[in-house]
Amino acid sequence: EADAIQGDPNHPFFSRQLLIVREHSGRIDPERIDEYLAVGGYQALHHALYEMTPAEVVQDITQSGLRGRGGAGYPTGLKWATVAKMPPGQKYIICNADEGDPGAFMDRSVLESDPHRILEGMAIAGYAVGATQGYIYVRAEYPLAITRLQKAIQQAKRKHCLGAQIFDSPVDFSVEIRVGAGAFVCGEETALIASVEGGRGNPRPRPPYPAVSGLHGCPTLINNVETLGNIAPIIRNGAEWFAGIGTERSKGTKIFSLTGKIRNNGLIEVPMGITLREIVEEMGGGVPGGNSVKAIQTGGPSGGCIPDRELDTPVDYDSLRDLGSMMGSGGMVVMDDDTSMVQVAQFYMEFCRGETCGKCIPCRAGTVQMYQLLTKLLDEKATKRDLDRLKELCGMVQATSLCGLGQTAPNPVLSTLHYFEQEYLDLLQPDPITVAANSRS
Ligand code: SF4
Repeated sequence: EADAIQGDPNHPFFSRQLLIVREHSGRIDPERIDEYLAVGGYQALHHALYEMTPAEVVQDITQSGLRGRGGAGYPTGLKWATVAKMPPGQKYIICNADEGDPGAFMDRSVLESDPHRILEGMAIAGYAVGATQGYIYVRAEYPLAITRLQKAIQQAKRKHCLGAQIFDSPVDFSVEIRVGAGAFVCGEETALIASVEGGRGNPRPRPPYPAVSGLHGCPTLINNVETLGNIAPIIRNGAEWFAGIGTERSKGTKIFSLTGKIRNNGLIEVPMGITLREIVEEMGGGVPGGNSVKAIQTGGPSGGCIPDRELDTPVDYDSLRDLGSMMGSGGMVVMDDDTSMVQVAQFYMEFCRGETCGKCIPCRAGTVQMYQLLTKLLDEKATKRDLDRLKELCGMVQATSLCGLGQTAPNPVLSTLHYFEQEYLDLLQPDPITVAANSRS
């Protein structure tokens, strides 16, 4: 089926997409700045520098309603305003390109296909908040993205789109690349900063937030790749244009990596508010092999599984959170009725167990214990007491872990327990102590 729709722009897989961040992906040569310039590249930066004050740029981003695309959906304008309000001095911009959710490759695709768009977004952010230095923290597993970013930075400097006195203005902004070593936790802002500083990528308690005290103790604005990919179009087309796309509280588009038991898979960029059913059934073409959809997992290891009865839910930050999942960075995995939801929970817990940084005990020990209990369940050796223990651990790890990785690690277990508890109950064995007590009485 995937082959059959190639080149058919009328197929819903393509026609239902709305390309903002990926508008030039596949259409321009990412290694030639002239092609980016030919489609209006760096015009938004020029416009911002010469036609707008920094405060007006922050105001535009705020009024656009853009929210962070890295996972939590924090209002981008609010973040920018916090850094902008800090006293003048050294400030930094960091592009978080440490994409690590299993099966997710949205940021990779944007960086590989349109690297200048991210540099332009960073430079506009730098002007808006008063930062002159930016870093892109990109994972080592993305060598093509790194090569293309390096080329793009060199080309942009030669064209005076980056570096000292951009477009002959008094504004300076330089970008350097920092390559991560593949630790999932380094996507967490404070761990990322520690890694950019050359230290071990361990999170630290917040506050202080990076916007106040981040890289080298200076105010630091951290945005993810997709968030920064929205900046130039917002400046070019206006905040109102962007705010007119999506739902009341979730504006613009979202890129998803549509995968799992689905006919048409791959990257899609869709307007916020589209329903899960439209994505799965119309764009994705449904489940192959005559099976039906059982659940959709969004938000990666921090998210949850949404059952088929909720397929008419609009895709926006609040609706997904209300269902016990989250938007996340854009992983969307479709599961059919052959899928064991306990196995799904075990898969994500195994991931978290391997990625915990080990700094705090609830996460370090809790993820291991939860993984062991899930394995015991799947081996059909667990009793009701094990299941109770699993539930207790979920609550404890969620409430007492230091950073988002630990706090959200129980989510796949909790959501599968909430919607598919019978699958857990079906695996339980009689408690030997109860059995023995009953046989004595
Ligand atoms: Fe490290 Fe987990 Fe604690 Fe986060 S919650 S600091 S990943 S041990």
